[in-house]
Formats: sequence, C-alpha cells, structure tokens
Amino acid sequence: MQFTDFKLNNNVLEAIKDVGYEAPTPIQEKAIPLILEGRDLVGCAQTGTGKTAAFAIPIINDIHKIVGSAKKRKLIRTVVLTPTRELAIQIEENFAKYSQFTSIKTLVLYGGVNQVPQVDALKQGVDVLVTTPGRFLDLYKQQHINVDHVHQLVIDEADLMLDMGFIADVRKVIKLTPDNRQTLLFSATMPMAVRELADDFLTNAAFVSV
Ligand code: AMP
Repeated sequence: MQFTDFKLNNNVLEAIKDVGYEAPTPIQEKAIPLILEGRDLVGCAQTGTGKTAAFAIPIINDIHKIVGSAKKRKLIRTVVLTPTRELAIQIEENFAKYSQFTSIKTLVLYGGVNQVPQVDALKQGVDVLVTTPGRFLDLYKQQHINVDHVHQLVIDEADLMLDMGFIADVRKVIKLTPDNRQTLLFSATMPMAVRELADDFLTNAAFVSV
C-alpha cells in the first residue's frame, strides 16, 4: 500500500514525501481510511508504531479541506490530549511537519512553565492544539481557550493518563467539547477504565489494533 492510495490532499502527500515515509505502517493502513471517513476510533498501539501520523495525517487533511490556503480566522478545530510535556512536544512537531505546506497553525501547551507565552500564542489563533490535560483546564478556566469549533478530539496514551491520575481531567476536557466531534482514542493497553472512557464518549467506534 502507498500513501497515494488514501484520498489525501496534494499538500499533505507532499509533506509525507518530504519527511521521507515510503509506505504507511500497519496502524496507518488501518486507521487513516477510517478517520478520513469520520469514524470514531479506538486504536490499540504502542509508541513506535507510527500512531501519531496515523491520526495527524487524516486530521490535517480534514482541516486543510476546511481552511484551504485562505487567511481565514483561526479557530481550534482539533485538540490532542497527551499525558506528558515530552509527548506533547513530539506530537506537535509531527503535526507541524505534516502540515508544512498548508496554512494550518499548531500549538503545544503543557504545565510547569510560565503561561504568558502560551496565552499570547493562543491569541494569535490556532487550528490544532496539543496539550496536557491540566494546563488545558487551567487556561480554559481563564477563558483563553474556546473549543466550540472542535471537530476532532484525540485522547493519546489513554492508559498512561490513567496511570498518572489524569482520567478525571480527561473526562472534564471531553465534556467541554461539542457532542458532534469525532473522537479518537489511542492506548497501548486497554484496562477497564480506558474501555469505560471509550464506551462513555465514543460513538459506534471502530477498533484497530497492531
Ligand atoms: P510514533 O509511533 O508515532 O511515535 O512514531 C514512531 C516513529 O516512526 C517516528 O519517528 C515517525 O516519524 C516514524 N514514522 C511514522 N510513520 C512512518 C512511516 N510511514 N514510515 C516511516 N517512518 C514512520
């Protein structure tokens, strides 16, 4: 299978070529078509399988379809929740690479640092927000984040968020986003609390495992 077999925009295909990926990985082969169809999805996959691109590529394709290359007002269309600062930075770097030939703006937020530059960046306008749950809720409460236009919510490393005690915060964030969003949940393992999270917040979800 080739990336050109997916119905992706040329700007996105160009970026995939630029980063040097020759063929999709198994999780990408399975997940990308389902995400492009708009399905909710549970992905059972570890880091290292290419799961970040599996969700980032179809999401960028979808946002690009909406915003095009016009200078439209930036509204947060995608929120990615992830447990740690390091993962958040890596995911945002991936989104930035795959969207390099589009007008899409990405931003990463995490706790433990001064929030002022983060608030300034939010004010500039963002399409894709990659964030740890706690910092998201802090800035949301201060009314620096508007999620009314969120189309996709990604819950990445759900089992790790559970282990780190973030599940209550994750539930709070999910409840803030519009009900008609597309929800994608990724986890290396599927403990009961993660399955419950998927049952509570995903609709008719496809399940892919690698
Ligand atoms: P992840 O599982 O998302 O942490 O990705 C692991 C590594 O695989 C990252 O360094 C990606 O850049 C790389 N990667 C993702 N998709 C592909 C692909 N289709 N071909 C080659 N490398 C890839």
